[in-house]
Amino acid sequence: MDDRALQILKTTFGYSEFRGSQAAVIQQLIAGNDAVVLMPTGGGKSLCYQLPAIARHGTGIVISPLIALMHDQVSSLQQIGVSAAYLNSTLDAAQAADVENRLLAGQCDLLYVAPERVMAPGFLDLLEQIDIALFAIDEAHCVSQWGHDFRPEYIQLSILHERFPSIPRVALTATADGPTRNEIISRLNLSAAQQFVASFDRPNICYRIAQNQGNARDALLRFILNEHEQEAGIVYCLSRNKVEQTAEWLCSKGLTALPYHAGLSASVRQHNQQRFLMEEGVIIVATIAFGMGIDKPDVRFVAHLNMPKSLEAYYQETGRAGRDGLPADAWMMYGLQDVIKLKQMMDGSDADEKHKRTEQHKLQSMLGFCELTSCRRQALLRYFGEQLDQACGNCDTCLSPVETWDATVAAQKALSAVHRTGQRFGVNYLVDVLTGKDNQRIKSFGHDRLSVYGIGDELDGHQWRSVFRQLIAHGLLSVDIEGHGNLCLTETCRPVLRGEQTLMLRKDSKQARSARKGRKSFNTSKASDNQLWDALRACRKQLAEDNNVPPYVIFHDATLVEMVERQPQTQEQFSRITGVGASKLEKYADDFLAVINAHNEQQQSATTDTTAESLRLFKSGMDIESIASERDLKTSTIYSHLATCIEQGEIRLNDVVSINEQEISTIQDAILASNDSSAKLKPVYEALDGMYDYEVLRCVRAAMNV
Ligand code: ADP
Ligand code: ZN
Repeated sequence: MDDRALQILKTTFGYSEFRGSQAAVIQQLIAGNDAVVLMPTGGGKSLCYQLPAIARHGTGIVISPLIALMHDQVSSLQQIGVSAAYLNSTLDAAQAADVENRLLAGQCDLLYVAPERVMAPGFLDLLEQIDIALFAIDEAHCVSQWGHDFRPEYIQLSILHERFPSIPRVALTATADGPTRNEIISRLNLSAAQQFVASFDRPNICYRIAQNQGNARDALLRFILNEHEQEAGIVYCLSRNKVEQTAEWLCSKGLTALPYHAGLSASVRQHNQQRFLMEEGVIIVATIAFGMGIDKPDVRFVAHLNMPKSLEAYYQETGRAGRDGLPADAWMMYGLQDVIKLKQMMDGSDADEKHKRTEQHKLQSMLGFCELTSCRRQALLRYFGEQLDQACGNCDTCLSPVETWDATVAAQKALSAVHRTGQRFGVNYLVDVLTGKDNQRIKSFGHDRLSVYGIGDELDGHQWRSVFRQLIAHGLLSVDIEGHGNLCLTETCRPVLRGEQTLMLRKDSKQARSARKGRKSFNTSKASDNQLWDALRACRKQLAEDNNVPPYVIFHDATLVEMVERQPQTQEQFSRITGVGASKLEKYADDFLAVINAHNEQQQSATTDTTAESLRLFKSGMDIESIASERDLKTSTIYSHLATCIEQGEIRLNDVVSINEQEISTIQDAILASNDSSAKLKPVYEALDGMYDYEVLRCVRAAMNV
């Protein structure tokens, strides 16, 4: 690797090493060649073009459709001392002219532009007048006419290569599938480019899914309070109404939850999005309209209160969690109602038949994924054509394996009920028939005289609904699209009906299992570390306000976590924390070091205070047990306080322990012999065959240090 690239990585970005294929991509671009980069969200795509743009002579031109993001990215770059600018419709004529002048003066390392700007008259002529380091085409899947983010201007971007054939280009996307990749390559004329395809696994995201048994809202609240209090998250709902209601309800429970959907005015949406970015601990409740163009790295959870329409959508939406690589949750509650509603929505659309069939198929895969009894990550990656050899250990089915039961007989009963009632009824009616409900509707159809009437009283309504849902998920039943959610038999149900195939189904759990205790980005049981974490966050918040940028632009959570762990004392130590480059070192080291110092001093004086209190009681004549119970501390803690006092010459060894000179020197010899620099007493304890307690050993050692 180019030494200079490593140098920039360290001093400008503050990172110690490249991730995944970053180094290879960067090398390729610095050498003047083209590249196509497929990397999941959070994989570190920006560095792939930012670094070579800095390393190479001239300005790196970044084409991005996400105007909302440009501002953020430019601020982030400015924070690390890189001169960057953007040109888009949010600038007025004077501001745009100013940017153009800076460009012409060769003062920009990076320029972000919207694709329509590239095609606007005069822009390419402007580019002719400056030195260009590279072209980066971000969100390159926007060239795909079949994708949902299609941008006609993207197709015209091949003009860049025609006008500037010698300038290296890189196309980047987080969209994984093969057809899209091929379209990018052919439309952008990148067949000679080297391709870099990363794994699409997001190992830090924990996937958790449960059935909604009418308790989804409460379960969501519990999940947030137990695992993500004060943290940022996104909650997805299917309808605008539900978005509004959920946001309101969460607020009534004391959380900060803001709605976001296409029915709100642009200014309300803008305002809510801005609060989500600038404040900490804000929850956005949204329809799928929210997300594109959100680059917030510290979203700690994405919750779905309804099932998304496909695994593609699920992967994309959950992918907005944990871009910073710290632990994050993808949590979902779903029900059969979601499936019916989605089917109706698809049916109501004016897409052609073929398209509708594809959509139904995708919905079916999504439902199957929800009902899995094996590792979700393996299944998700398999769907995208990637093989994960082992179960992941970080999804609900891995963390608490699903119980299954032999549902062959139950399935036969359920399928018969569908058959006997003429495939014209929905789940609730069928459950009523099976459980023998005494109701007028059943009687009016004469279904109380069927053989299936009342043959299912071994299961309750919830359990039957679960059976039906899983039969649909397994493709043994289908929901009739034309009708109103009536169930029909499919070809695949025959072997089960005839008893030729056993069917194992999952036992439903009532809640999305709590995966692990405390999945906060920062998690420790040490109270003093928690205090320091809070203090560092407060410092970051203040600096963010002063600079009018989101907190994560100052430092990411991962950087603060490292500060707590390493507690740097000097500028030099501070500079070695991941995410601290030269520019941020100069700007912020003093502030954060001051917080760490103040914290340490406070810790020390707290220790001094508690030691002094033990000493006072000891001197007043109390024995060690009494002091411990009086102060509600362990006796070993009191001993360690007194050991400190011995060391400081405040009391003598023999005031605390009653052992004779002979014993003292035996222990001293053992301590000297152990010669353990780590100051552990275990070897000494063992060398003395456990004759003396650790407390005694500690006091003897303290006396040696006087
Ligand atoms: P993407 O655009 O692929 O979604 P980003 O470029 O936003 O991903 O990077 C995701 C996160 O990873 C960011 O927080 C970024 O600062 C961090 N990051 C990227 N490269 C490195 C690296 N080499 N070392 C440490 N952190 C990195
Ligand atoms: Zn798993």
